[in-house]
Amino acid sequence: MLRRTKILATLGPATDKPGVLESILIAGVNVVRINFSHGSEQEHLSRVKAVRNWAHTNQTYVGILMDLQGPKIRIASFKDGAKIVLNIGDTFALDADMGESSGTQSAVGIAYKTLPQEVRKDNVLLLDDGKIVLEVTSVEGNKINTVVTQGGILSDKKGLNLRGGGLSADALTEKDKRDIITAAKAKADYVALSFPVNGDDVRLTKKLLKEAGSDAGVISKIERAESLVDEIINDIIQESAGIMVARGDLGVEIGDPQLPAQQKRLIKLARSNDRVVITATQMLESMINNPIPTRAEVFDVANAVLDGTDAVMLSAETAAGDFPENAVKTMHEVCVEAEKNPIARTSHHRLHEDFTYIEETIAMSSMYAANHLGVKVVASLTESGKTALWMSRMSSNISIYAMSDSVATLRKVTLYRGVYPCGIKNMSNADWGKVNAKVIKILAEKDIVRNGDLVILTKGMHKGKTGGTNLMKILRVGDSEYE
Ligand code: PGA
Ligand code: MN
Repeated sequence: MLRRTKILATLGPATDKPGVLESILIAGVNVVRINFSHGSEQEHLSRVKAVRNWAHTNQTYVGILMDLQGPKIRIASFKDGAKIVLNIGDTFALDADMGESSGTQSAVGIAYKTLPQEVRKDNVLLLDDGKIVLEVTSVEGNKINTVVTQGGILSDKKGLNLRGGGLSADALTEKDKRDIITAAKAKADYVALSFPVNGDDVRLTKKLLKEAGSDAGVISKIERAESLVDEIINDIIQESAGIMVARGDLGVEIGDPQLPAQQKRLIKLARSNDRVVITATQMLESMINNPIPTRAEVFDVANAVLDGTDAVMLSAETAAGDFPENAVKTMHEVCVEAEKNPIARTSHHRLHEDFTYIEETIAMSSMYAANHLGVKVVASLTESGKTALWMSRMSSNISIYAMSDSVATLRKVTLYRGVYPCGIKNMSNADWGKVNAKVIKILAEKDIVRNGDLVILTKGMHKGKTGGTNLMKILRVGDSEYE
């Protein structure tokens, strides 16, 4: 059975081992994530090449998302790479004047030098994804004095967050700007922007991508508390190709108990704005070291599917885990089962709203007709993939084939729920009298449709040229006339 929800898997040392990348792609990964937080430019580019080669050989399309590191705030290192143990009640200082590798049992340096000016007494600082909690007791010049309220082991370069958010670090660092050039070189399909504060960060990223010659879609990672305000989140979403519910950092900033409600809200917001959404982080965390997931993890993946996410993401499970292939197979099975639930198949999307565009009207009408007529598939001839995106905002169990001669478009739609890329050659000088028959032939050759099946086809025809979708046609496979 076809899975509608897409699987995004992070590449890393584990997938560099012989045969592993291939095994996860065969298991059903639709989009790979290359994480700029780890590895060299050379490593990133060679992973991109390996994925593209595999896709080419197997005549399929795999999307590539390159994830910018962003201003992840970290502590500096300890003397001789030591680890320290912090216990409840201990005092511990974060000192901007301390050297890079001079941390001790009582204090450690910070790379983000303005932190002391941005925190106050009683603020709560979280280290290592919230495992260690520090309460600020005072700030003396460049030194933040704290008391430990939740203890643990602390080692070099662990991440640091402020509960409630509000740190002023720019979303795009100098490294991110260099990595944008690498992403353009790699012809990335998507670039993920970490820690955007507001829509301006997205606009700047798009500008830099454009200047670098990239048409990658920007996926904004929602991971700052302050970006959740209605006005800001709407601006971010509208400027982006999609968002990621970045549950790791977001959970640390707002507290995990608030995450489920925010996940549901963000997924709804993205979909209603005709944007894609990825649900990320710790989806199958225990599978980093175990061949099977916990039951809670199975529920988490299934619930994200029922919430309406386009894609579910694997991080260390595939990048550094012991069971990358199992993790992808598990996700596949859980998604397929969750998608059988009627909640995943019915939609009220735009049912009581006016439409703005002709393409959108055709997309919505096609899905309405498909849902009510027992149509086998919807085939959308598309240059940009936009019609397929609109169609996929409506929940249903009807497969949407995005048919295009643009490889960039075919790779972009790999992220859209319920949409499958299907190449069709030479559309710019196609014989428009024969294009319907050509579409049916391609679908039949791939065994997607058989004689007697109904197909809804949408396309754009303007004086014989391709363009914005303005036509919908219902065809029966096997009929002698398709035009
Ligand atoms: P990261 O982003 O894995 O790059 O930190 C995802 C998250 O914070 O959830
Ligand atoms: Mn993050």
